[in-house]
Amino acid sequence: MSCDNLPARLGLNLPSPLTAFTPDWPGANKVSMWIKRDDLIHPIISGNKWRKLSDVLHTFLHERPASKRHIISFGGGYSNHLHALGWCCRQLDIAFTAIVRGNYQANPTPMLTDLATWQATIRYVTKAEYHRRHDPDYLATLQQDAPGALIIPEGGSQLSALSGVRQLLAEISPHPFNTIITPVASGATMAGIVSGLAPHQSALGIAVLNGVGYLEDLVAQFLPDFSTRHQQNSMLPATQWQILHQFHHGGYARRSPALTSFCDELLKEHELAVEPVYSGKVFYAVKHLLEDGFFTPGDNIVILHTGGLQGSRSDPAGNI
Ligand SMILES: *Cc1c(COP(=O)(O)O)cnc(C)c1O
Repeated sequence: MSCDNLPARLGLNLPSPLTAFTPDWPGANKVSMWIKRDDLIHPIISGNKWRKLSDVLHTFLHERPASKRHIISFGGGYSNHLHALGWCCRQLDIAFTAIVRGNYQANPTPMLTDLATWQATIRYVTKAEYHRRHDPDYLATLQQDAPGALIIPEGGSQLSALSGVRQLLAEISPHPFNTIITPVASGATMAGIVSGLAPHQSALGIAVLNGVGYLEDLVAQFLPDFSTRHQQNSMLPATQWQILHQFHHGGYARRSPALTSFCDELLKEHELAVEPVYSGKVFYAVKHLLEDGFFTPGDNIVILHTGGLQGSRSDPAGNI
């Protein structure tokens, strides 16, 4: 049972802090706001990437003998997921193969340079090959080349990611919140949260990319028990979760001047570091929703800070 103290072995700060947030923004005095500081879990495996990987890594270490440990996963050149997973693999003596979309060989990003330092095998693939990352035939050929390796999908987003995400709700649970706000990209974090809500609680997702309908389907696909959005008697009515699509600032890894200056302001005035790909969009949304009277007076709101600052060292154009 040597892996039960995985967080300690990796030096993680868990449970992450829940801190009061009291900006002087219009409307902020009508609600209570708290930040779940998952960005403080660890400087590299920060935020939701640890939540999504924790159970998979636990199981993997229990099941595989040390000599047979190999993980393969996918991402772009700025992937927070590959970066977090690569670091975990290095710390835990697991062989790691990163399949990266695009050819950064001549010009690696800081994230990829770190991966190489951590002795990951990096395979650069074309867009066309990367496109097949969920195709069972393609995965079978990868598996043939690396028998026994564990293949983890892009972003660490799979059904087994949800229980780790629920853990963050368990950490918050003594606190009486009624709404929790999170960014949505692959939807697994949102789905994990939704799957752990109490009946009086709801989740609000902020789309970080342009995907009306698409993102809702991504979240729902992870919720087989609840994929009854269209069905009556759903255990979890669709009213318990909702994704807002007006805060993506042009799409994935796009930003507006307003978002950039907002991120600077948050750091200066609230000593809160956010990046413009995920958490910056969430806090920006909160500020505007407060101003528009979106929340009910008296609401007790938790904002999930999913981290991501390790990825903002240069312009992220191919993140996830
Ligand atoms: C990957 C990532 C997300 C997106 O989470 P999904 O589960 O893919 O929706 C949000 N925030 C940060 C900081 C991330 O790195």
